[in-house]
Amino acid sequence: LMQLSVPLNFIGFIYREIRQGLTDIEQMFDLLDVPAEIEDRPDARPLAVAEGRVEFRDVHFSYDPNREILKGISFEVPAGKTVAIVGPSGAGKSTISRLLFRFYDVQSGKILIDGQDIGGVTQESLRSVIGMVPQDTVLFNDTIAYNIRYGRFDASAEDIRQAADLAQIGPFIEHLPDGYETMVGERGLKLSGGEKQRVAIARTILKAPPILMLDEATSALDSHTEQEIQAALDMVSRGRTTIVIAHRLSTVISADEIIVLKDGRIAERGRHAELLAKDGLYASMWARQREATEAEERLRIAREGD
Ligand code: ATP
Repeated sequence: LMQLSVPLNFIGFIYREIRQGLTDIEQMFDLLDVPAEIEDRPDARPLAVAEGRVEFRDVHFSYDPNREILKGISFEVPAGKTVAIVGPSGAGKSTISRLLFRFYDVQSGKILIDGQDIGGVTQESLRSVIGMVPQDTVLFNDTIAYNIRYGRFDASAEDIRQAADLAQIGPFIEHLPDGYETMVGERGLKLSGGEKQRVAIARTILKAPPILMLDEATSALDSHTEQEIQAALDMVSRGRTTIVIAHRLSTVISADEIIVLKDGRIAERGRHAELLAKDGLYASMWARQREATEAEERLRIAREGD
């Protein structure tokens, strides 16, 4: 028995050493704040999209175990409809878009697309059906044509031109010295926030995904650019299931449902007029927003008057 216990002790020692080593690695990753890589399940199937209905069912999520960010979120976006998400900074709006794209897995609850839990499908198939138009688009150091074609690599030059026109950026591109062959990005022509967003919209028009995730810019754009972007977004979201993190009155007015998020919970929900009539959080948010816009407008008129 003695003969056996020595090697067993040794194995125990090795085991503890390895355990400690793994814990150290885990702690190191925690410190570096590297999100755990999401892997496809061994039995993951491709997502089959027929209509593009999206449902969040009692979703709970936290980045850190001791701080819950989403505390039981449920909503449904019927195929082809638009849901706007609004709420104060830090409420969890962008987190919802990250979860739909499955950059993270939910702690409990489900996110379903046409009844299929996105946790059980391949990430490639999931991401191929969702078009993302972020607030800040990072462009590749390549031509404008390449940056638009990225939405669908087999697109022809004519497809690219059409997408750019629909995204209200076509005439701008044609006036550049090298047109569609102009280099953009960090080492090329720097585009404004509104121009970059329209390139992203053109890319999404080419991709033609059944589901759209839009994140409207918070920064004030001049009203002409804003109208152009709004027209481009209306164009791309027509007939598509759309979730939009909304900052503009025009978006929420036309949304089929508005979800007001506060501290990770849905505080209010309904259409614009219903929420105004409630005179709660939504009504006060928009009153403040309107004051801010009016103040900016007065400032601009005063400046122009100088
Ligand atoms: P905003 O309108 O300011 O963009 P938001 O409503 O989109 O805010 P989220 O970006 O979803 O808010 O963030 C919700 C909360 O989650 C915030 O308190 C934020 O600090 C936290 N958070 C976001 N990303 C991470 C992360 N990678 N790790 C840890 N906490 C995070």
